[in-house]
Amino acid sequence: MPIVEVAISVPLNRTFDYLSDTEVAVGARVKVPFGAKKVVGIVLSNKQKSEFDKLKSVEQILDETPILDKPILDFLFWSAKYYHHPIGEVLLAVLPKNLRLGKEAKIKKVVGLPTQVNQPDFEITDEQNTAINSILVKQNAYHGFLLHGVTGSGKTEVYLRITQAALDQNKQVLVLVPEIGLTPQMIFRFENRLETRVVAIHSQLNETQKLDAYLMAKSGEAGVVLGTRSAIFAPMPNLGMIIIDEEHDGSFKQQSSFRYSARDLSFIRAKQANIPLILGTATPSLETLKNAMDGKLTRLTLANRAGDVMMPKVSLIDMRTNTDGALSKLLVEKMQQYLSSGKQVMLFINRRGYAPVYFCTECGWKSECNHCHASMIYHRHINRLKCHHCGDEKMPEQTCPDCAQPSLEVYGYGTERLEETLGSHFADTPIIRIDRDTTRRKKALAQHLEKINSGEPCIIVGTQMLAKGHDFSNLAMVGILDIDGGFLSTNFRATEYLAQLLIQVSGRAGRSGQQGEVAIQTRFPEHPMFNFVLSNRYTQFASGLLKQRMSAMMPPFAHQAQLCANAKNKDNAQAFLQEVAGLLKSIDMNGVEIWGPTPNSIEKKADYYYFNLYLQSNDRAALHQMLATFTQHIDTIKLKNKVRWYLDVDPID
Ligand code: ADP
Ligand code: ZN
Ligand code: ZN
Repeated sequence: MPIVEVAISVPLNRTFDYLSDTEVAVGARVKVPFGAKKVVGIVLSNKQKSEFDKLKSVEQILDETPILDKPILDFLFWSAKYYHHPIGEVLLAVLPKNLRLGKEAKIKKVVGLPTQVNQPDFEITDEQNTAINSILVKQNAYHGFLLHGVTGSGKTEVYLRITQAALDQNKQVLVLVPEIGLTPQMIFRFENRLETRVVAIHSQLNETQKLDAYLMAKSGEAGVVLGTRSAIFAPMPNLGMIIIDEEHDGSFKQQSSFRYSARDLSFIRAKQANIPLILGTATPSLETLKNAMDGKLTRLTLANRAGDVMMPKVSLIDMRTNTDGALSKLLVEKMQQYLSSGKQVMLFINRRGYAPVYFCTECGWKSECNHCHASMIYHRHINRLKCHHCGDEKMPEQTCPDCAQPSLEVYGYGTERLEETLGSHFADTPIIRIDRDTTRRKKALAQHLEKINSGEPCIIVGTQMLAKGHDFSNLAMVGILDIDGGFLSTNFRATEYLAQLLIQVSGRAGRSGQQGEVAIQTRFPEHPMFNFVLSNRYTQFASGLLKQRMSAMMPPFAHQAQLCANAKNKDNAQAFLQEVAGLLKSIDMNGVEIWGPTPNSIEKKADYYYFNLYLQSNDRAALHQMLATFTQHIDTIKLKNKVRWYLDVDPID
């Protein structure tokens, strides 16, 4: 009787053998008994012998043809190995839920062709033309490009034209964007231009839509697959090009279970498929800049905004001398000016809720979460204090629990309070607030965006969600509030991220017509970073950071991995990592440094204590050899079952 080797979604570095009546296609799904349950697994091989006896039998063969074909399987194997993640978990994690549950691989509703496509009414610029031609001459083999174009330089136009060229060769194109918020707009731009099926892959689709999108990518019916990070695993038999928009964005890194970077994996997928890879951004990550400097990426530059539009004028407002609360007088005046001339204004504040602190003015007591080492955030519309780490909520205390005085107040600003304050300054102007609280409802974000796109004068208040990608044509001015936390952060990447954020947010201003304006409120106006941001010299700024990283031997000049453990019992979390550190040190590997265990920046979250162990090496192979040996020996660690732990390769936080 044939034996099949099956990958099952369990946190173990092994596969399982089953008896089968017939051979099964490699990459097909089977339903198999596992413990007391029946689970769906992926067949990895057919064999005659097994090292185990008393094998159970395959219950049902779910696919006649592979659901994961050879190229995707190869890519997933590579990914699992690189991130030292169990293969079964990786293979099943990338399937849409309905396939994971064993449902039939059948398309319910074929996405229609966009009925009518429109060609642009402008000529491409010389810079765009050069970029397009440079990519297209390398169209038929692997080649990496950095498309470094300032905000509003027309990178999307470049994507559209190179995509058209790939479609003309009957190839498919994979486009990754960072946020769900960007997909409807990008989808519209692609559908509106290209005569092909454009399917979306992101978390806000329902399960039927996800399955349909996946299967249309797999059948080749979708010419363009546009999605967030998980789309990097979409099966595309005729894949001809990969485009990563806003490549610097942190959301390409998955921050739970299988912690992959879709940006980093795109290099592997493009090499395996032997096709071009295009990383586009106005603010390249230091990793990408280094790759460009090392010649691994060809750099294409769009130095100017398209259509004779100027870069916005950026200025600082010194908040050390400003006692007007969240909004300086100067900012309010500037806003008034733009609104009265029929323009839109956007205020960026990276904190949702009403106020981040609820405290006692008498004794200094501060409301903290009972389950986390973190402040409770006040949300006014529900009159609750909420923890943004564990979700716990409570009614605000009426009197101080420490000194019993009724002297409790909020401090600081979130989007909700800012909206309220704006209402008192601009009673007649619509205010559109976009954060996680106002966009939880399905379609809510799309409705907000539609309102903004109608062009009527309004004030847009937004968080991260609005920072990038959007192209609002009547938005003339951007105000940036409360970014100073970035200067105080302990993350060594904090200034890199802050510069990227400022430039991206600023880039929303004045994208058509007259020159736009950006005002940044800060208590650190002398910080050297502002010099570069104000004068549009991101590359020089980033090159300076790269030099610092090189002399400190930090990423991207060194490679890191992080082992995180958490447990309700603090000692267990710490002792586990101490044991792990002992094991790692016993692995004889030159040139890998080990630090820790150290507590997480937020040590306690949802009653669990978090500790980290860091590994670093200049030699990536040595680091990975050590991690591989570690995962083989993890079972020898006694405290293993007393903690939750994970490994993060190339961590970004
Ligand atoms: P980016 O992605 O680089 O920030 P976009 O692709 O969103 O920029 O382009 C900004 C705006 O400029 C869009 O409205 C786009 O239609 C327009 N645009 C793009 N290329 C040109 C061009 N060659 N001439 C005039 N306008 C252009
Ligand atoms: Zn008190
Ligand atoms: Zn909490």
